[in-house]
Amino acid sequence: MRNYLKHYINGEWIESTGSETEEVINPATEEVIGKISLGTKEDLDKAVKAARDAFPSFSQTTKEERVEMLENIAKEYENRKDEIIETITDELGSPLEISENIHFMMGYNHFSQAAESLKEFSFVEEHGGHTRMKESIGVSGLITPWNFPTNQTSTKIASAFAAGSPVVLKPAELTPFAAIILTEIFDKVGVPKGVFNLVNGSGSVIGDGISSHPDIDFVSFTGSGATGEKIMKNASETIKKVALELGGKSPLVVLEDADVEGAAKAAVSHIATNSGQVCSAATRTLIPSSMKQEFEEAMKKALDDFPVGDPREGNYIGPLVSKKQWDTVQSYIEKGIEEGATLIAGGTGKPEGLDKGYYTKPTIFTDVDNQMVIAQEEIFGPVMTVITYDSIEEALEIANETIYGLAGYVYGKDPETLRKAASGIRAGRVKVNDADADFSSPFGGFKQSGIGREWGDYGIEEYLEVKTILGYPS
Ligand code: NAD
Repeated sequence: MRNYLKHYINGEWIESTGSETEEVINPATEEVIGKISLGTKEDLDKAVKAARDAFPSFSQTTKEERVEMLENIAKEYENRKDEIIETITDELGSPLEISENIHFMMGYNHFSQAAESLKEFSFVEEHGGHTRMKESIGVSGLITPWNFPTNQTSTKIASAFAAGSPVVLKPAELTPFAAIILTEIFDKVGVPKGVFNLVNGSGSVIGDGISSHPDIDFVSFTGSGATGEKIMKNASETIKKVALELGGKSPLVVLEDADVEGAAKAAVSHIATNSGQVCSAATRTLIPSSMKQEFEEAMKKALDDFPVGDPREGNYIGPLVSKKQWDTVQSYIEKGIEEGATLIAGGTGKPEGLDKGYYTKPTIFTDVDNQMVIAQEEIFGPVMTVITYDSIEEALEIANETIYGLAGYVYGKDPETLRKAASGIRAGRVKVNDADADFSSPFGGFKQSGIGREWGDYGIEEYLEVKTILGYPS
């Protein structure tokens, strides 16, 4: 049992001032694996004060000191590798392979990349005889969701530290344990007192408190659009800058000359990885009408490569994170059937033999019209919609016909068509074929997928203010 009833404030683990706790459930077994304290506004005030007090000295540390700190964090993070992997598998239900190759790996890359980006970062620039300085924005409040417990926390913390901004973090209640390990890592490597503060709690108390706190200068949030909206409203009362990483309904455009098997497997991997609980996942596969039958067959076949089951037993798809998420996904599958889409794999209910745990059948709908609810709303589960098109212009129109713009994917061979498709998708990140991940490149959304960018130098910029000095003596 992991019971964490304290918050980490000003370099110490301290008792919560409230008595409320919340149980954490392993979604694969439905068993309680521990609990956390739900903090109060008083706990939050203490954390904000600690961060505020740490600001003058932390913001004045040298770039070299912060590079060293980030490198030490990356090293210690690696030392805790096995524990991080096990913890994420227990709290999120992600298969060990995913916990290692995606969750652990992304956290590591954000700390090491922030150190690298910081080395190259210029805080003072000369322009037309005048000087521009970039300075820490102040105290940052970080609010994160459950679907990537080390990715979203690490990218925000690493960028804030690189910029010299002390933080208060409120991780998701469903997956709080990975953040506890991060906190222990910061403590071990000697992150100065007050620079990192962790307050566990609910969105309505601590999350709301962060977004409206007069002593927090910037809020970086990842989560749902509905919560993003509340955060913006709250932040407006103190004219606080916000960065929002929200949802997506990303298109994967398969071009006529694409390798069908490869593209079908890539499409299925999007709904399989992390059980489809990925904001940047492609959940609308756009295929040429002429390819329909062949592609659908290839997708069904590709499902065999992604077995569903116990995350500790070598499967690729684990359960969904919670009963609530399971219910939501079920209702979307029912909606798709009701809307008249054709179910070619999966459907409602649990996969055979998996009665315990929040397992869902990987589901593929074809004959989908882009106006259907299942093509427009973020499902956040292993559900793919397949839509046909007759020209590249039509494909791009469908791809962009959504309120979101987080990511896009293009599969094909002809360079000119690939370029046309990639540049025609309105999204913050477009991937062509199987291009490698790059942690130095900005990540974030167009339209209602968010505001701002994370990762690498763009991530650091978010935590900085720009000051112009006219006539600065050289
Ligand atoms: P959520 O918005 O319910 O919760 C996210 C965080 O916000 C949690 O820590 C929660 O406690 C907190 N919160 C809840 N109510 C709040 C309030 N009123 N004020 C302040 N904070 C509050 O989202 P979720 O269910 O945890 O995550 C799933 C959603 O996140 C999906 O829509 C997904 O697309 C999105 N997401 C986006 C990205 C991205 O980078 N764009 C990444 C991951 C997840």
